[in-house]
Parts: sequence; structure tokens; C-alpha cells
Amino acid sequence: MARNLDPKCRQCRREGEKLFLKAEKCFSDKCAIERRAYAPGQHGQRSGARLSDFGVHLRAKQKIRRIYGVLEGQFRRIFAKADSRKGQTGENLLQLLEARLDASTYRMGFAGSRAEARQLVRHNGILVNGKRVNIPSYTLKPGDVVELTEASRGQLRVKAALEAAESRGFPEWISVDVKAGKATFKAMPQRSELSPTLNEGLVIELYSK
Ligand code: SF4
Repeated sequence: MARNLDPKCRQCRREGEKLFLKAEKCFSDKCAIERRAYAPGQHGQRSGARLSDFGVHLRAKQKIRRIYGVLEGQFRRIFAKADSRKGQTGENLLQLLEARLDASTYRMGFAGSRAEARQLVRHNGILVNGKRVNIPSYTLKPGDVVELTEASRGQLRVKAALEAAESRGFPEWISVDVKAGKATFKAMPQRSELSPTLNEGLVIELYSK
């Protein structure tokens, strides 16, 4: 399975903000953005350079792609699916990304980051409606129940992630039974429930150029 192997903190520094790609480190003062909030590489500190119009659009797309850990080809396919659905393409795009099993596993607190969630899914640690699903890109539907297998429920890493997620609070579109290690994907998230710093409008403009 192809995946993005670029160092995670470097990806955040490229986008100039925290993308929360690394579990608890992202919430500590070890976060690379807290220490070096400029782009990586030899010319990274020349942050005054203005981006071209294309650059602005590209950065908006890369940021979303990196947050959800999706490669370019996959992202284009998700975009095409979003575009073919009723409603607003931008909102559809973000909903489809959030409905991925790896993204939801992370939101449900079963893993500390989307990358960890992907690994948990790949390693057969997750059941959907009582059946094992090991495909991170699997799209959840409203009402689907996601739960940890017995083996994964006992993992210290999973327990720590759940505890941390519970203390931070779960999103509105998900309900979690922490004790049972079980959660329901209640509905597709509304745009207002997702980060206002994502600019999906620029992605639409980029792909329609
Ligand atoms: Fe990004 Fe997390 Fe690394 Fe900070 S610690 S730079 S938020 S991946």
C-alpha cells in the first residue's frame, strides 16, 4: 500500500501550521512548529517570499491532503466522487475524507493520529458493524458502528489514545462508548463542525483550472 513517507513534522513546517500528524507530540512543546515555525530546507527562513496564485491554491490542497494522509491519486478520486454527488463539492469532499475508516478511527480516539489509525485498521484491530474491515479508505455511512477488537482494546497505545481523546472531547458527529471501545458514526459532519482553516474552495478552483 502506497503512503506518504515524508517526515511528518516537516510536512507541518511546509504548510506553516500544526497539522496534528503525530499523536501526543503535537500537544507538547516538542512540536516542531513551536520550535521552528518556518518552512524546511535551506531557504525555509525566507518566509517573506509571496506565493503565486497557483502556489496559494496548491498549498490549500496539499494541506488538506496531508492532514488526511491521502496521496495525490486517491485525493483526485475522492474529489471526483465529491463532485459527482449532490450538494456542494467542497463540503462533500471534506465529508468523504472524514468518513474514511482511518480518519474516523482517529476521531473516535482509538488512535493518537491518523497514521496510527491507519496502522490499527491495517492490522485487523477494527470491526465495522461487527465485521473485520482492514481497508483504511473504507467509507463509513451514518449509523455504522466501529469498535476495537478484543486484542486491540488491551493495547496500551490504544488505551492512552482513548484517554487523551476523551479529555479533549469528541466531535459532534460521533458518539463514543469509551469503556466498551465502541463508537457510532452518527452522521456526516457539517461544514461548520470542521476546521475553518481548511479552504476547500481553493481546491475546487485548482482542479477546475
Ligand atoms: Fe506537526 Fe505534530 Fe510535528 Fe507539531 S509535532 S510539527 S503538529 S506533526
